[in-house]
Amino acid sequence: MARDAAPAEAVTTTIRTTCPYCGVGCGVAADTNGNRELKVAGDPAHPANGGRLCSKGTALGATFGLQGRLLHPRIREADGFRDASWDEALDAVAQKFRAIVDQHGPDSVAFYVSGQLLTEDYYAVNKLAKGYIGTANIDTNSRLCMASAVAAHKKAFGADLVPGTYEDIEAAELLVFSGHNAAWTHPVLFRRVEAAGDRHPQFRICIDPRRTETAKSCDLHLMIKPQSDVRLWNGLCAYLITHGGVDRDFVRDHTEGYAELKATLEQQDQSPEAVARDCGIATGDLLAFYNRFLTTARTVSLFSMGSNQSAQGVAKGLSLINAHLLSGKIGKLGSAPFSITGQPNAMGGREVGGLANMLAAHMDFDEVSKSCVKRFWNSPTIAPKAGLKAVDMFRAIHSGAIKAVWVMATNPLVSLPDADFVAQALKRCELVVVSDVIARTDTMAMAHIQLPAAAWGEKDGTVTNSERVISRQRPLAPLPGQTKADWRIVAEVARRMGYAGFEWQHAGEVFDEYARLTAFENDGYRFLDLGGMAGMTKAEYDNLVPTRWPFRKGGKPAGRLFADGGFNTPNGRARLSPVLAQGPASPTTDAFPLALNSGRIRDQWHTMTRTALAPELNRHIPEPLVEIHPRDAERCFITDQRLARVVTFYGDAVLRAKVTEDVREGDICVPMHWTKSFAPFGRANPLINPEVDPTSGQPEFKHTPAMVTPFGETWHGFVIHGDDELAFGPGVIWRRTPFAHCQVYEIAGRGQPPALDTLVGAKGAISLDDPAGGIRRRVLMEDGRLTAVAFIAPSAKRLPARDWLAERFGDEALSPEDRAAVLIGRLPGVEDQGPLVCACRGIGQRKIEAAIAAGCQSADAVGDVTSAGTQCGSCRPEIVRMIVRHKAKEAADA
Ligand code: SF4
Repeated sequence: MARDAAPAEAVTTTIRTTCPYCGVGCGVAADTNGNRELKVAGDPAHPANGGRLCSKGTALGATFGLQGRLLHPRIREADGFRDASWDEALDAVAQKFRAIVDQHGPDSVAFYVSGQLLTEDYYAVNKLAKGYIGTANIDTNSRLCMASAVAAHKKAFGADLVPGTYEDIEAAELLVFSGHNAAWTHPVLFRRVEAAGDRHPQFRICIDPRRTETAKSCDLHLMIKPQSDVRLWNGLCAYLITHGGVDRDFVRDHTEGYAELKATLEQQDQSPEAVARDCGIATGDLLAFYNRFLTTARTVSLFSMGSNQSAQGVAKGLSLINAHLLSGKIGKLGSAPFSITGQPNAMGGREVGGLANMLAAHMDFDEVSKSCVKRFWNSPTIAPKAGLKAVDMFRAIHSGAIKAVWVMATNPLVSLPDADFVAQALKRCELVVVSDVIARTDTMAMAHIQLPAAAWGEKDGTVTNSERVISRQRPLAPLPGQTKADWRIVAEVARRMGYAGFEWQHAGEVFDEYARLTAFENDGYRFLDLGGMAGMTKAEYDNLVPTRWPFRKGGKPAGRLFADGGFNTPNGRARLSPVLAQGPASPTTDAFPLALNSGRIRDQWHTMTRTALAPELNRHIPEPLVEIHPRDAERCFITDQRLARVVTFYGDAVLRAKVTEDVREGDICVPMHWTKSFAPFGRANPLINPEVDPTSGQPEFKHTPAMVTPFGETWHGFVIHGDDELAFGPGVIWRRTPFAHCQVYEIAGRGQPPALDTLVGAKGAISLDDPAGGIRRRVLMEDGRLTAVAFIAPSAKRLPARDWLAERFGDEALSPEDRAAVLIGRLPGVEDQGPLVCACRGIGQRKIEAAIAAGCQSADAVGDVTSAGTQCGSCRPEIVRMIVRHKAKEAADA
């Protein structure tokens, strides 16, 4: 049920909205009393998830507090930030943008926006930049995840069009995950895949240099060399041509470029042996893939960050699409190349022109399109050409060519490659405006003006998911403090800059304008047409049900595209696009012999500003790590679970080493989430090279030459405290994990450890030292409550687990038994649960192992005994793997 305003009384209502995290776009049914107390469940009526949610979606209620929120506009002074009124802040933004544009021209300002924005927000800021200021220097962080797929779609299909639907993924008999760890990054989609596999035979292949959770769940894993994807897919195209796998009718009637593609493929030895050798896999495995693809009509190939985030991202997407076009595996039930978006509204942003190289409503910078958009907007100008893409935009800020930037709903200091360069760029910039929901992000700290934006659960608008379904995000509580919707902030700045055309009263009016623009002078030229959604009343907009585009006026919402060919090119034919396999843009060297890949973990979202607020999401993988192959570890003198320093040409980081065969020899992998406020020495993106794909501008997050050395720590410790801004002295490596009632700081260093007094204070402290074992402990209690704890030992293995101690911070008064136990850090006789596996139910590894040892043979059986995996199911692949490992060990021992 939608609503117009937050209920005044504490009456619980169920409001249907959409999850703010990944591009699956799950529907959420939130029970709310309007007072920020939420009970969240999957919306059974939403077509994306049918009632399911993953661990991140399930924990949305825990992230809905006001902790850490920016609630007032703030302006930076010499001695820090001061609160300001909206009038003062908006006047300052408008006047400074106006002055800089007047003096230096439109391209001296820029906007860096986000897939977290709603379509209405995106539309408003794009209109301000391109139609009124007259610059296309507006780019989105979707550049970092989707731009290569967008460019591949435009080249192959004539427009940024995703052919398939989730129904196709379920109907497929062969599923290929190409650089897509769906089990962790799109968990609900993966649950749907698993459920489909229970209903009918489905063979799954994973193409990934890492043995990801998805790879472990597949029937075949092609653990290819980094950046050999194009070689693999080109080899498949050649195999289809030589083995009768070309759909001759489809290619003749609906494509162009066959001869050029064939000629390009013939430039290289495409024998399975040569391709397998170049990809670093067994010929038999390669042929198993090729023959499955050759013989399975219902084939869906999913591609995501592992494919897109590359200096060859467009070529990777095109080579995969070529295989589908050649074999006619597109436009039919269960057949599609399928790009899965990372962010909740990456697709919506692409629709309204959030990318610097697109105008709005899927129009480009040709004269006809510019005229069309300008006339529709009745705007004073239109950006004459494409603007700077993300990496180039920050280079221009660094060089001074761009003098003012407005960052919206994103944290580029953490998420862009060569992140320390980005910090320098913002430091040099004359005006940095940041509108966001969180007061303390790495980027917020660089702002001159901070603007408090509405968060998920307060915003009102629409998002589009990976399968082109537009859904509503609805407010669940009133706007807190002085926060405003992003589109309103933009409109108010635009009006102050003297522009008409921003007089919308509510989000529905912004959406209506956007929908009308998609239909304006369209006549079927552009497939993106929302004419059937134009003209909605406010009530109709409020009650909008999930709707897939295209939806033309007088028609009905579309399903899969290209059922009869009919691509969005001038002649209606898809383009077979020859691409050549190339090596990495930055090859490894003697000095930097390892290839650094970066990725994501299961329970965190982007830069942790929101997911870290849910304690249970911090416990699956609580600290930044580097995965390294055992042979590389041996060569580099790296020990499992000790600290390792990772160094690249761009920066360095100190990370917990995980020695594992889940990465190839020669590769290492680092997750991207941690920020300065969680782990200042554990940030991934200062390490990443800023190479980009020449067409899409998408950065190469998957291949940076690196070296690894032992950090050589001589002591380890932890501090548990209520303060989330504890400072540590120089040389102390620290990382912070929020728990429900405290913060847990892991610390380590070389030489003499810090005095415990400096960590938790001396007054009222109780100490217990063990000189023989080198362990020092200090506990602080006030009025019977635990307020601070510090433990230091020469080895991490001598430290107790943190969970029990951290939970004691929630006790009103410690029991006598617990008072005695806190000094040793655990209750005698109570066993630690080990690493958390099931975030929803709080079940640790040891409990699950015990259930398996007691005879549980399936994830369902483990769930029956322990409850693990019975809510969102995100941990089920991990449980299955534990069962498989247990069986293998039993067999080996037998
Ligand atoms: Fe949200 Fe998880 Fe669904 Fe993605 S899969 S939309 S993170 S609930």
